[in-house]
Amino acid sequence: MTSNEQAAARARAVIPGGVNSPVRAFGSVGGTPLSIVSASGATVRDVTGRDYVDLVASWGPALLGHAHPEVVAAVQQAAARGLSFGASTPGETELAELVIDRLQTGRRAEIERLRLVSTGTEATMTAIRLARGATGRDVIIKFAGHYHGHSDGLLAESGSGVATLGLPGSAGVPADIAGLTLVLPYNDRAAVEAAFAAHPGRIAAIIAEAAGANAGVLAPDEGFNAFLVDTAHAHGALFILDEVLTGFRVGSAGWWGLEQQAGQRWTPDLVTFGKVIGGGMPLAAIGGRAEIMDLLAPLGPVYQAGTLSGNPLAVAAGIATLRLADAEVYRRVDAAASAVADAAHAALAAEGVAHTISRAGSLFSIAFRADPVRTYADAKAQEAWRYAPFFHAMLAEGVALPPSVFEAWFLTAAHDESALERIRAALPVAATAAAS
Ligand code: PLP
Repeated sequence: MTSNEQAAARARAVIPGGVNSPVRAFGSVGGTPLSIVSASGATVRDVTGRDYVDLVASWGPALLGHAHPEVVAAVQQAAARGLSFGASTPGETELAELVIDRLQTGRRAEIERLRLVSTGTEATMTAIRLARGATGRDVIIKFAGHYHGHSDGLLAESGSGVATLGLPGSAGVPADIAGLTLVLPYNDRAAVEAAFAAHPGRIAAIIAEAAGANAGVLAPDEGFNAFLVDTAHAHGALFILDEVLTGFRVGSAGWWGLEQQAGQRWTPDLVTFGKVIGGGMPLAAIGGRAEIMDLLAPLGPVYQAGTLSGNPLAVAAGIATLRLADAEVYRRVDAAASAVADAAHAALAAEGVAHTISRAGSLFSIAFRADPVRTYADAKAQEAWRYAPFFHAMLAEGVALPPSVFEAWFLTAAHDESALERIRAALPVAATAAAS
């Protein structure tokens, strides 16, 4: 039987670092990454045949749990009709209608048009290009610790793997391009106002994760998103809401929907989706008002394209997932997240380990510091070294956590009582490991 070590060694010989996305490499926790052969419900199975309760959920997409039978059947049926046509399909329209319906608030259409792409990186890259095309300006604002994919202009002080590896950005990004991105501390209104004052008439857009979840969870202060919209508009700039991670995961209308329910009233100019919208297949999207979205080719001058955009298998998975993601699914995911977050807190408190649990809807992460985490600087100012022993103790107990303290934990609707029980049993062992 192949071991994870053998699988990793074989992969390293032909794939850079043995992985096709850096955080999978266990760089910050050490040890050998699992080589996964299958997944079902709340569990993943490695090459040795061992099952783990999974809290990665494919980094978000598996809202319903892995390999939901109805999603798999939808993909199989689509596959039997052909893998890709390079032409429009009725399914693309159906998915766009579904998304637009979910974001109606009864006031006005927040999103009138949706363009499908294959990755969240493409979605945010296109949103930036659209904002520049619409405003005729070049500079963008992003926040430290927020991750918007790996396009050139968005890697500076980025979250996710860039944070995990402790990098300031990426080699290979021309200074002229990096220079068009202003990186500001999150939740800092004065910094946003100062940036607009310092660059009058030059800022095309602010892009922000709807709730930060790529440097651990960095929830927006109450009213911060609304402030960003108002400030951008006051200066003739646009606001791009990145819901690639939060969209359709924290609620049926994403983080934006949660804020609307809480009485906040604000409207982004462009929204990006990914992950859950494709139900585990490569699919993402950009949405917005018609007046901006219709600037895209073929109607307008902003170019964007994709051979596999709106791929019929991905669209089938997305439609099936969104149709199944009803209020009960979100209730179950929320309840499972609360159960795990509470158990993690209790286990760490029992061992006297200083920690804080940052939460944004059903997304949460642990930071090994007593004080709350509001900014990337806060997230970095923790005893991050405690995470590796914590992570490996959980893994040894059969629970697979994200292999970085800078990532959120992902629950699914398939995390039933038996899965939660296995997590609850493992946490005290991990807390002891973190304490030493
Ligand atoms: N935006 C956010 C908020 C994300 O979390 C991610 C990925 O984690 C992306 C964009 C990039 O998406 P993708 O990995 O599909 O390119």
